[in-house]
Amino acid sequence: MSIRYFDHAATTKLDSEVLEKMMPYLTEEYGNASSIYKIGSSARCAVEDAREKIATAINAKVDEIYFTAGGSESDNTALRGVAYANREKGNHIITSKIEHPAILNTCRALEKEGFEVTYINVDSDGIVDLDELRSAIKDTTILISIMFANNEIGTIEPICEIGKIAREHNVYFHTDAVQAVGNLKIDVEELNIDLLSMSSHKFYGPKGVGALYVRRSVKFNSLIYGGHQERNKRAGTENVAGIVGMGAAIEKAYKNFDKTYTYLLKLREHYINEVEKKIPYIKINGHRKMRLPGNANISFKYIEGEALLLNLDLKDICASSGSACTSGSLDPSHVLLALGMSHEVAHGSLRITFGVDNTMEDVDYLVDSLCEIVNRLRNMSPIYEEFLNGKYSM
Ligand SMILES: *Cc1c(COP(=O)(O)O)cnc(C)c1O
Repeated sequence: MSIRYFDHAATTKLDSEVLEKMMPYLTEEYGNASSIYKIGSSARCAVEDAREKIATAINAKVDEIYFTAGGSESDNTALRGVAYANREKGNHIITSKIEHPAILNTCRALEKEGFEVTYINVDSDGIVDLDELRSAIKDTTILISIMFANNEIGTIEPICEIGKIAREHNVYFHTDAVQAVGNLKIDVEELNIDLLSMSSHKFYGPKGVGALYVRRSVKFNSLIYGGHQERNKRAGTENVAGIVGMGAAIEKAYKNFDKTYTYLLKLREHYINEVEKKIPYIKINGHRKMRLPGNANISFKYIEGEALLLNLDLKDICASSGSACTSGSLDPSHVLLALGMSHEVAHGSLRITFGVDNTMEDVDYLVDSLCEIVNRLRNMSPIYEEFLNGKYSM
């Protein structure tokens, strides 16, 4: 039986055309992009060509793109880089309660170093509270960091409004757009974004390579010291093949944008409609409209998410409960709790994230499997029995 993969928010399969474009740089074209002989300069050209593709995709300038080793490094560089370089202006950072751990744990580390961080609440759909954001800004605020779209529940934040608020108050605005790049159209000029993180493996590129967009006017420090690569902002010999792959992947994602967007939306809506029709006592998480096209996060009440995942795995279905980074911990997802959900309901949540290789038939197989598994698990559950007897409710 073949694997049915519904975890595209965790990572995606490397596109075969992208791999083909990377191959020369893993074999014959092995030169160091900083060397002057021919294979070095062809590597340099390839890196700069990829930089241009990435800049074009988000309407940035080529010298505003810095290559990194992925989304986590881009997030760390954005927060720490701005914090250290603007310390004389202030020590206050604003973020949200539903950010990825790459943001939240960096903020916690900065708090230990004397920075002050405000964590803004979200509503029950996961949208950040703009009034709270506005009133959190003070003279010492140097940076607002709010994610473009959430990796667990798919909710898209009001980025344009946040950019406007940041600009009005002369505060830098960073967005973790790791889930958004490739899935949503992004224009850093229109949206007043000053820094933006992205990661190649979330849009069918290779793992271990990402980029950070930094507007020319933004003051930020390098985190990795060494050679002069990336205009002295990120030392280390360039990951040429990875960078080439990232460039090819982003170009392909936006070339096929409308087709992919419509297709993912169709798969998602079919899934949600079928689950709503066939399985009782569920809750759809995240904003119903303002969400990533391929994301569906549903809580199945009176069910344990881990049990659901294990049973799905027996049917060769890959999915996720909450964030891939937090499974392995007993605490329910910080994102679901921030929506105001109870621990019990949060524990039964299942994140399905569709990708270009999924078919309608895959979705039907998923729904049929879920019907059977949810039914079986509920019939084994003492809590569900109490619920049926009218003694308990979620
Ligand atoms: C995956 C992800 C990251 C981390 O990216 P890596 O390339 O895996 O380091 C950061 N933020 C969000 C929203 C993500 O989904």
